[in-house]
Amino acid sequence: MVVNGVCDGASTGTVAGSHPPLTYDVAMRILVIEDETAIADFVQRGLQAEGHAVTCAADGLEGERHALEDEVDLVVLDVMLPGKDGLSVLAAIRAVKPELPVVMLSARASVDDRVAGLDGGATDYVTKPFSFDELAARVRAHLRTPRQRDATTLAAAGIELDLLSRKVERDGIELRLSAREFDLLAYFLRHPDQALSRQQILSAVWGYDFDPGTNVVEVYIRYLRRKLELPGRPAPIDTLRSVGYRLTTRA
Ligand code: CA
Repeated sequence: MVVNGVCDGASTGTVAGSHPPLTYDVAMRILVIEDETAIADFVQRGLQAEGHAVTCAADGLEGERHALEDEVDLVVLDVMLPGKDGLSVLAAIRAVKPELPVVMLSARASVDDRVAGLDGGATDYVTKPFSFDELAARVRAHLRTPRQRDATTLAAAGIELDLLSRKVERDGIELRLSAREFDLLAYFLRHPDQALSRQQILSAVWGYDFDPGTNVVEVYIRYLRRKLELPGRPAPIDTLRSVGYRLTTRA
């Protein structure tokens, strides 16, 4: 969504380029709340080049609304903002989404301001002027720890998967999965309702050096579907022609 013309509309909310870097198995959604157009554009372009989907907001109220209502993986938040200041926006985000990584961006370099930001629950703090590389490194560091990492259970479409005990249930019925089937299902549960290409699945579950010509993904999806099927309940993994697969969570 374009807000106050800050973002480059053509690419806002979409993945930049068709080949996201290998660091991420899917594009991360980043919200940039920054009123200075030049900085917002610079940050947006850089993050899009890293393969992220970027949304911008040019004032605190608009930014807060996006942070609270949209599906967002990380927020880059300026401190001095019209409408509502960054620290107040941070407080509002923390009240609702305590786990959401927020990287504060500010011209205020004093120790007091840094402490106020971090005390307010900022995940990290970057002082202007900054190089894009510095911001990108911090964004990468915080995206490397997805929110679900700490959760021991992944759940969708009636499936519950416990990462610690490696127990899997569908509608309360325990399923016996091989180690690879388990990893494959965990990957789908981490990306519900997303189209995942064969190559993405192969890379995430089998590793990048696996022969891309292999049909191992198809074979294991067949195994997994068979195990997920219950009477009257088809397996929730759809085949998307010439795209890949998707775990569908709608009833
Ligand atoms: Ca500002």
